[in-house]
Amino acid sequence: MVESLYNVENENPAIWVFLEHHDGVLEGVSLELLSRGRQLADVIGWELTGLLIGHQVASLAEEAIALGADRVILAEHPLLEHFTVNGYVHVAQQALLEYQPSIFLSGATPDGRDLAGRLAVRMRTGLNADCTDLRLDPKTGILICEVSGFGGGVLALIEMETHRPQMATVRPGVFVPGEADSGRAGSLVSLEFDLPPEIIQTRVVERVSGESLDLTQLPILVCGGRGIHGHFEWMYELANLLGGDVGATRPPVDEGHIERQRQIGSTGAICRPKVAICFGISGAFHFIVGIQEADMVIAINNDPKAEIFDHADYCIVGDTHEIVPALIQEIRDWKMEVGD
Ligand SMILES: Cc1cc2nc3c(=O)[nH]c(=O)nc-3n(C[C@H](O)[C@H](O)[C@H](O)COP(=O)(O)OP(=O)(O)OC[C@H]3O[C@@H](n4cnc5c(N)ncnc54)[C@H](O)[C@@H]3O)c2cc1C
Repeated sequence: MVESLYNVENENPAIWVFLEHHDGVLEGVSLELLSRGRQLADVIGWELTGLLIGHQVASLAEEAIALGADRVILAEHPLLEHFTVNGYVHVAQQALLEYQPSIFLSGATPDGRDLAGRLAVRMRTGLNADCTDLRLDPKTGILICEVSGFGGGVLALIEMETHRPQMATVRPGVFVPGEADSGRAGSLVSLEFDLPPEIIQTRVVERVSGESLDLTQLPILVCGGRGIHGHFEWMYELANLLGGDVGATRPPVDEGHIERQRQIGSTGAICRPKVAICFGISGAFHFIVGIQEADMVIAINNDPKAEIFDHADYCIVGDTHEIVPALIQEIRDWKMEVGD
């Protein structure tokens, strides 16, 4: 077996979180990882460190400390203004080799995945990708990563016994960000690193972001499945009346009834709404993963044996063609009555 560049004998007791940011703002998943990282670090008495790479981003370190980091390692350089996998991996690897933390976590975002994959190969360690939970054995310091495997049929727990760092990426929305405490103390350490310009093989000419859609933090999620037979106009109307937004299972996305960024589930968004209302959805594991942290699930299905009912707080057996228009009318009438 290939040995990692450092191993369990010379690791340092620390959990690192890659602090991803865009336009001067930390990514939501980084806040979520700081929160979970803090909980894990407290379990075992280790240090939680944020790795902050960029240009003129030092102010984000304060936020990371307020959210639970004990220390932020800062690597700033004009060539690091935009994420490039060559530049960021080059710097992150130097940081890891210098400090040798036991654990390195990153968001499973496009940039986070890009960084973690290449960094794991460079460090000759493993990477648990797209984890749905992270635990820590307080006796051994081994990170236990939960991932769904075999097409979602099993949940696998993966441990890395000898290779370091123990690397994992986690999907946005899996953990809840903590409350910021501006009184928390922490340290900021500047990383000494080399960055030959020729390392960076891409140049960011312009960053164009589409309208961002974040379904992960909505209060109310109205979800349509194959059983609404393409009537997403109902879903939008309901969501509008209830002050929420619309998600979907994979089949209507694949059939072109709704855009892919609204897909909920293991290969879509993982959400934590207060209420998820599921219309015409069978309750396949891949979908349930996306709503299982909802405070309340209401399911409407014409099959009384539908699996979704095993995951719902309120179960309504009936035809979406009858129930949805009636529900919309009922809410409209009620809103008129109360003058909303
Ligand atoms: C690797 C992999 C990744 C996947 N990732 C995802 C993912 O991220 N998200 C996701 O959703 N799926 C995903 N899937 C697909 C997933 O396994 C299911 O196939 C999918 O969730 C089923 O969607 P559905 O419930 O809308 O459709 P169906 O399973 O076809 O269920 C339709 C339901 O509607 C009910 N119904 C039909 N007509 C009516 C009516 N008139 N009134 C009321 N109820 C009605 C039926 O009784 C049925 O229960 C993935 C699959 C794989 C293999």
